[in-house]
Amino acid sequence: MGLVDERVAVITGGARGIGFEIARVLGGEGACVVLGDLDQDAAVEAAERLRADGLRASAVGCDVTRHDDVTALVSHAADTFGRVDVMVNNAGITRDATMRKMTVEDFRAVLDVHLTGAWHGTRCAAEVMRGQGSGAIVNISSIAGKVGNFGQTNYSAAKAGLIGLTKASAKELARAGIRVNAVQPGLIRTAMTEAMPAEAWASKIAEIPMGRAGEPREVAGVVLFLASDLASYLTGAVIEVTGGRYM
Ligand code: NDP
Repeated sequence: MGLVDERVAVITGGARGIGFEIARVLGGEGACVVLGDLDQDAAVEAAERLRADGLRASAVGCDVTRHDDVTALVSHAADTFGRVDVMVNNAGITRDATMRKMTVEDFRAVLDVHLTGAWHGTRCAAEVMRGQGSGAIVNISSIAGKVGNFGQTNYSAAKAGLIGLTKASAKELARAGIRVNAVQPGLIRTAMTEAMPAEAWASKIAEIPMGRAGEPREVAGVVLFLASDLASYLTGAVIEVTGGRYM
């Protein structure tokens, strides 16, 4: 028996990085997974890789900033696998610059993907979950939302906003049997962070009590816990996955 046997999980931004690893880990614990990603070809290819490993996976092109796309993603999961038990709002971008140099467009773009995107995901998944009387929603925030990162006023604001969204929707949805929680990863080794200059990487590592970056599977393990019945009495919680950084 897997921890999420026969559950159906939707993961936005699931074609690569942390989202793909979440799909792999949930799939490995028995879930049917549906990947939604801006890059449809990458999502389809990622689902093929999961199926080649014997997992049940499907993929849809989806821009989380578009409500209709997210509605279609959730409908695809329900039509393909019969229900929606887990929604992971993971899709993300960065557009870093100090506030003086950041364009209004780059501020709005980051808010739109992370925060509006997660609101769309929560709203659409909750519609299906309400009918089932159960569900688990996991929002991928960031430690930047707790401490604020220099050069990331857009990203830090969006990731802090996700905590408000998590707690408010947890209150609204608890009576429907739906739990909503958030994860705040620290420095995790993915394409998003590997683009960082070597000195910036080294200075971040120096701040981490465990002395290393995290791996995507170490975030995925916490998402698995939140998605599973092990977390049956947990809602509105924020779990930091940072190797002790900014504890
Ligand atoms: P990646 O850039 O590796 O993956 C992000 C995925 O989201 C990509 O597949 C990307 O597609 C997709 N995406 C971007 N915009 C949209 C959109 N509008 N609609 C649907 N999908 C979209 O990032 P990570 O795996 O590193 O990050 C995943 C999440 O974890 C993000 O929310 C990030 O903020 C968060 N996080 C990451 C940390 C880290 O250290 N890596 C630390 C803390 C939080 P495409 O490739 O086409 O752009």
